[in-house]
Amino acid sequence: MSSKRDYYEVLGISRNATQEEIKKAYRQMARKHHPDVARDDENAAEKFKEINDAYEILSDEQKRAAYDRFGHDAFDPSRGAGGFGGFEDFGAGGFTDLFDLFFGGAAGGGRRRRGPQRGADKEMRLDINFEDAVFGMQKDVELYRVEKCEKCNGNGAEPGTPIKTCPACKGSGQTKSVQSTPFGRFETLRTCSRCQGEGKIIEKPCTACRGSGQVRKKHKINVRIPAGIDTGMRLKIQNEGEQGIYGGPPGDLFITIVVRPHAKFKREDHNLVTRLSINFVQAALGTELEIPLLGGASHNVKIPEGTQPGDIITVKGKGIPYINSQKWGDLKIIIDVTIPTKLTKKQRTLLTSFYEDNEDKENRKNLFEKFKDAMG
Ligand SMILES: [Zn+2]
Ligand SMILES: [Zn+2]
Repeated sequence: MSSKRDYYEVLGISRNATQEEIKKAYRQMARKHHPDVARDDENAAEKFKEINDAYEILSDEQKRAAYDRFGHDAFDPSRGAGGFGGFEDFGAGGFTDLFDLFFGGAAGGGRRRRGPQRGADKEMRLDINFEDAVFGMQKDVELYRVEKCEKCNGNGAEPGTPIKTCPACKGSGQTKSVQSTPFGRFETLRTCSRCQGEGKIIEKPCTACRGSGQVRKKHKINVRIPAGIDTGMRLKIQNEGEQGIYGGPPGDLFITIVVRPHAKFKREDHNLVTRLSINFVQAALGTELEIPLLGGASHNVKIPEGTQPGDIITVKGKGIPYINSQKWGDLKIIIDVTIPTKLTKKQRTLLTSFYEDNEDKENRKNLFEKFKDAMG
């Protein structure tokens, strides 16, 4: 059995208290027993934890139902809380911060972080040609980046003019305000409104950066685009994002690649697909043709006798490279067969005799088939 006090008792409420009543009771109890308030009570921290535990369970209808049914055992880790369904999250919920307790958490001032911060990552899109995507390239990319103002060296003051320590906060960047409440006096730290937390006052702002100490600058970087890159792939360029703050490291630059389509070639996975038109005589007799490849080279393609429309001729290793690998995809040539729209007299005669010869053969074959069928 658990030696813990009943949660309803802890908050001093009835077992059928509404959520509103639970919240109200919790706030009252928490204020009374907050370790910063109840300094004379050596058990304050323990009581405060108990109050928070009670609130955490009772303010959640699901956890409350489990508690009503099983008591503290419902949340006893030694009994495998999983048995009661997903209560493993016991993070400190609620208003444990004294400031939040009294002022509802609305005022977030006075908590400015001044330590080193990593600069933000940057995103950009880069359109490249189909051929460049296949063979890879080096490309200069221009982008704007916020950098330290060179004129004032980042301090925001016009060179030669003084920077004074803020008289309101004496350089600390924060001011203390004291609030009197029924539970005692509370000191709150807020960002100094005079110097915006900088601790310094600039008499004459730098004309180049208007006192911000930062300027947006065009910046050129050389990007290596690997052979075989495809639309939608992202390149990460380390340390080329925004500058860090207060000595923090810079962010990274992410470049999303968009490959422009090519008039003659299409990409299918790592294969390069193109179409080749030949006439019906070439298709029937077979031939050898030189076709242009990407990057200015050419390739001799052997068209075999009897090639049909839609046949695909594969040229091994003339496709698209796998990134950072020696492996290449294939070139697939789809054959289109053209039929002449106009014939010369001679061609007509030739084709007619071809047709008759062909029909004789077909008929002979048909007679033979019929004979066979009759016999069968
Ligand atoms: Zn100040
Ligand atoms: Zn400046």
